[in-house]
Amino acid sequence: MSATHEVFNQPEPLVDVNLFEGNRALQDALRFNAPALDVAALRALGQQVGSAGMQQHARLANVYKPQLRTHDRFGRRIDQVEFHPSYHALMSAATAAGLHGTPWAQAAPSPHLHRAAAFMLFTELEPSILCPISMTYAVTPALQGNPAIYADWAPQLTSRAYDPALRRWKDKPGVTVGMGMTEKQGGSDVRANTTQAVPEGCDGWGQRFTVTGHKWFFSAPMCDAFLILAQTPAGLSCLFLPRVLPDGTLNRLFIQRLKDKLGNQANASSEVEFAGATAWLVGEEGRGVPQILAMGTLTRLDCALGTSGLMRQALSLALDHTAQRMAFGKRLIEQPLMRNVLADLALESEAATALALRLASSFDRPDDEHERIMQRLLTPVAKFWICKRGSAFAQEAMECLGGNGYVEEGGEGILARIYREMPVNSIWEGAGNIMALDLLRALRKADAAAALAHELAPAKGMHPALDHLAARLPTRVEQMATAMEARRLAQDVALAVQAALLAQTAPAAVFGAFCDSRLGGEWGHSFGSLGAGADVDAIIARARPR
Ligand SMILES: Cc1cc2nc3c(=O)[nH]c(=O)nc-3n(C[C@H](O)[C@H](O)[C@H](O)COP(=O)(O)OP(=O)(O)OC[C@H]3O[C@@H](n4cnc5c(N)ncnc54)[C@H](O)[C@@H]3O)c2cc1C
Repeated sequence: MSATHEVFNQPEPLVDVNLFEGNRALQDALRFNAPALDVAALRALGQQVGSAGMQQHARLANVYKPQLRTHDRFGRRIDQVEFHPSYHALMSAATAAGLHGTPWAQAAPSPHLHRAAAFMLFTELEPSILCPISMTYAVTPALQGNPAIYADWAPQLTSRAYDPALRRWKDKPGVTVGMGMTEKQGGSDVRANTTQAVPEGCDGWGQRFTVTGHKWFFSAPMCDAFLILAQTPAGLSCLFLPRVLPDGTLNRLFIQRLKDKLGNQANASSEVEFAGATAWLVGEEGRGVPQILAMGTLTRLDCALGTSGLMRQALSLALDHTAQRMAFGKRLIEQPLMRNVLADLALESEAATALALRLASSFDRPDDEHERIMQRLLTPVAKFWICKRGSAFAQEAMECLGGNGYVEEGGEGILARIYREMPVNSIWEGAGNIMALDLLRALRKADAAAALAHELAPAKGMHPALDHLAARLPTRVEQMATAMEARRLAQDVALAVQAALLAQTAPAAVFGAFCDSRLGGEWGHSFGSLGAGADVDAIIARARPR
């Protein structure tokens, strides 16, 4: 309260709501992909991540950023990163929810889809700590390229225990694993890597190397081990580099400094040097890129899931704020032009959710040929398109809160945090152009045109604009776009698949307005430009988080 005026017309925060129960788009997409999925754990997680207590952890983990301690007070190198206790509370919760590796050890149906939904919900709490969680989830298919190491590490990789201590893996109940590809002279073009790995013998984990060089971006350096790329005599190879060696001594990995980043504040991203570090070969020597890309495929999935989660969170905050705030005699959510903006954001968010979960479900059916092709096709498409839409989406959602949206206020301004976080999913794990070019590679290998036609078939005849696009896409796919056309093709494949999914998962109001606007030209170049025929009432009612 103030002595000079009464504080009124300022909204109450969106806390202590169940983020799963309020998310109809998520529920319907899950039902579509796995009708019999047991969602009890997701409902419980929705309650947990929406709670005021957990949101306080998210705020503190972002305000009190990780600190690098290179040496102890006696001058000995320790190369450790210190985190606020809230960081560890969040990591513990994410691990307990099985977001890091549990799907690989589960006999339950649709474990990857279930985990994907949980990952999206957790993103609405705090996205940046999910960096090591995502990398740990993603490492399994690549690490299986060294069966001995995988057999030793699998129990800790899939356990639900979190242990931040820098100790031997076998002395810990749970571990995390990161990845190191990017060097100063080249990130996208990893063939330019200069880090050298010299063979030094063989042991129970196979061919051992001594590694000398650096990594320019090396996130979550407190992970227990990393998959890295380095040049061996046979060429660029994938190596497994633990922080603590099997004999308990620290590996020769030195953290130079932490990155000072735009967002992603709770997560530590570092620059490191390897000064004669020990690492073991994973997969075939000289075939490091495809080997580590088995990990990159899954982290790309997580970029699409994470951005979809952030979109949903930004939308919920915008809807909730405008439902409380009065302007010009009405609640903002009742103002016709604001309704257009909110409905347009809701369409984008639901389409992102549908596409990201469709992709996730393909990982549950690796033996199905159609799913295998769609996984290869939709990974770059979803990573490119959803992440590309994220920043514009966050800006618009922030604007719905007016000046309050732009204010950080000690970490309480969640939309400002979302806005700063958004671009990273588009940059790391392959930036936009790299994803669009990867789509061209995917089209070269698989029977992509037929698979795409099959994927779009259930929506045939449901909207003229979708029919028009769907009729032409397979030919464009077959004719092979050039690099110049790659982004446009990735966008059109994304929009067509999103529309076909919405035809099957969403009410007619959502599907119709999505097709009219994104495919039929009833749209401008900014959010909030849906045509007059859009049923914004139905779209907004479906999206409300409370
Ligand atoms: C916060 C953060 C954390 C990170 N953590 C890690 C990590 O843990 N491990 C790791 O290995 N890396 C990490 N990265 C690095 C990240 O993956 C790279 O920054 C990214 O892959 C791009 O590589 P680059 O920075 O070298 O840019 P460049 O490769 O120089 O690319 C610059 C731009 O050029 C475009 N481009 C490149 N080639 C082409 C082409 N042929 N045609 C058209 N356009 C092209 C790219 O799309 C991009 O937009 C992290 C990055 C960030 C921001």
